Amino acid sequence: MTPSPERSPLMSLDEALRLLGEGARAAAITDTETLSTFDALGRVLAAEVRSGLDVPPQDNTAMDGYAVRVADVQAEGTVLPVSQRIPAGTVGQPLQPGTAARIFTGAQIPAGADAVVMQERCEAVAGGAGDLGSVRVNLLPTPGLSIRRRGEDVRSGAVVLERGQRLSPQALGLAASVGAATVQVLRRPRVALFSTGDELVMPDEVPPERMPPGAIYNSNRFTLRGLLQSAGCEVTDLGIVADRLDATRQALRTAAEGHDLILTCGGVSVGDEDHVKPAVQAEGRLALWQLAIKPGKPLAFGAVNRAGGGEALFVGLPGNPVSAFITFMVAVRPVLQALQGLPATLPRAMQARAGFDWLRPDKRREFLRVRFDEASGALVLFSNQGSGVLTSTVWADGLVDNPPGQAIAKGDTVAFLPMQALVGT
Ligand code: AMP
Ligand code: MG
Repeated sequence: MTPSPERSPLMSLDEALRLLGEGARAAAITDTETLSTFDALGRVLAAEVRSGLDVPPQDNTAMDGYAVRVADVQAEGTVLPVSQRIPAGTVGQPLQPGTAARIFTGAQIPAGADAVVMQERCEAVAGGAGDLGSVRVNLLPTPGLSIRRRGEDVRSGAVVLERGQRLSPQALGLAASVGAATVQVLRRPRVALFSTGDELVMPDEVPPERMPPGAIYNSNRFTLRGLLQSAGCEVTDLGIVADRLDATRQALRTAAEGHDLILTCGGVSVGDEDHVKPAVQAEGRLALWQLAIKPGKPLAFGAVNRAGGGEALFVGLPGNPVSAFITFMVAVRPVLQALQGLPATLPRAMQARAGFDWLRPDKRREFLRVRFDEASGALVLFSNQGSGVLTSTVWADGLVDNPPGQAIAKGDTVAFLPMQALVGT
């Protein structure tokens, strides 16, 4: 007798991530494009960025003040004639011995000067050779005082950003600071998305007062499309596919062309009557897993053949809105990362204090919808953790990643995954 799917053993998320990562790495994106650094936010570098110059390019002043020769200031209160004025962006003359230069933050240190005394420690006084007057220096400078040294941030030729690194706003700034006008990046992952289920209707097609019995809105289409877009994907939205084998197979064939990944929701639950499983089996290959996570559990992973050879990866998510949302974050996001050569892992969890009791834990690893409460400095739990309760996903600002069978008592330290780290690139 073949074992029924109900009895198939649960697979740990770690094991699933290993297999998903393996599958996605084998299909990793290698196409690259050169983009203006201006337009490269969120993209993954396909080549390192090296500096074409020293940063800063010259010794310059960290303060508004007076550039001096340390040898000329042997006592506090020394008065020196001011021989020149050097605003940022201009280059002064070599500093004549026995004089000071008025200088402004960022300006290049004139040759001969070896310290800058901040203006708060100086007094302008009348007299001196020219019309710039003199300055009384009210501290004893040490060599290098308030000077930013040439190359102290970056040396010419140094790698400032590594291949495989995702470009954050500050990474774009760093690239620009070393003169990188363009960057070489991977093309975005291309993902085809469709929902299955004849009960699904769209809000712009059926208003609430005309909702037919048994129908529900296709909320997952919005959630998953948004998650894919937030993850930096190019999304082809194929809408709702009818619960028929031929329609599902046709949708899969269309989706396989020109896409790295086909993502569907619905119809992967145990005992489901829907056609996703046989359709993927007919058009490619499929493994159906029962993940030991809650919410979540069913997950389909496979590939769909392309007419001209090659294949697109396939991931089928459960239809329950919270399950689809969470399974995306813990399983699909890692697939997208691996497709771009990054590790197929969850974001790093933070240690946080539970402000609630969770006394009947599940045997599966649970992802609880929680919110950080500023007043108590602890996490609070959304009251209804049901897998259909979409309000919990908007209320929450993170998930507690709770190990199988682990009870939580108020005050315990738990692993907190901030939503911002789970949603996005
Ligand atoms: P399924 O995974 O197809 O068995 O669906 C499980 C539950 O999720 C059912 O209550 C479905 O009506 C619901 N569901 C399936 N697909 C969607 C969707 N795209 N948007 C919202 N709910 C859905
Ligand atoms: Mg269904």
